[in-house]
Amino acid sequence: MKSRRRIYEGKAKVLYEGPEPGTLVQHFKDDATAFNNKKHEQVDGKGVLNNRISEHLFLRLNEIGIPNHFIRRLNMREQLIREVEIIPLEVIVRNIAAGSLSARLGLDEGTPLPRSIVEFCFKDDKLGDPMVSEEHITAFGWASPPEIDEIMALSLRINDFLCGLFVGIGIRLVDFKIEFGRHFENDMMRIVLADEISPDSCRLWDIKTEAKLDKDVFRHDLGDLADAYREVARRLGIFFDAEPKGSAGPKLVKT
Ligand code: UDP
Repeated sequence: MKSRRRIYEGKAKVLYEGPEPGTLVQHFKDDATAFNNKKHEQVDGKGVLNNRISEHLFLRLNEIGIPNHFIRRLNMREQLIREVEIIPLEVIVRNIAAGSLSARLGLDEGTPLPRSIVEFCFKDDKLGDPMVSEEHITAFGWASPPEIDEIMALSLRINDFLCGLFVGIGIRLVDFKIEFGRHFENDMMRIVLADEISPDSCRLWDIKTEAKLDKDVFRHDLGDLADAYREVARRLGIFFDAEPKGSAGPKLVKT
């Protein structure tokens, strides 16, 4: 088998060189990490679930005209994407107080926010992804003012659409993190949604029971993470034969 050139390895994903110039292969691993990698475990099947959930959400967003990097799914763990220049920001959209916002402002988890709030963090694990303002972003040249306007507008559209999509399946979209990149085509550039949208990067609460169906299950040892993600996939109408629990790969079957 021909080995592929690894372009980048993150905590939960690997990017490989794609089959054609301008493309990459995004591979979803089973690694679950939290608290800036201080907690780290393998969760069987997580990569398969996130690949499918993220594919589903990117396809739905594509249908309402959100430009994004997704081309097509290749297999259980991989998708073909357009190569983009990642803008070094984590864009967080919040509808309900939770996590670091609750801690920072002393708001009880679950308090509805007066309106959706968009925050920016500088993507740097060593610094713990510090929150930054538009002033920092433009002063350090991470994005220009028109690019920030575009990112804000896209983020709010994505939030409105995803809130509705999740409410329809009995899930409250509490908050989520997205990333954007610059896609260059000839002498044109446009801002596109990149990375992933999955229960790793969203807070998803069951509307009736308030049960957490996201990475907080892992962060706070609330149960089986893959079961929570499977429930999200099931409600989204994603049916597939997940890799059997505990399987390390193909097994030789003696006849
Ligand atoms: N988030 C993420 N990656 C990060 C930081 C946050 O995907 O590096 C997501 C997180 O899952 C949640 C939202 O962004 O859905 C807001 O996270 P928060 O700032 O509350 O930080 P956390 O509580 O996750 O430390």
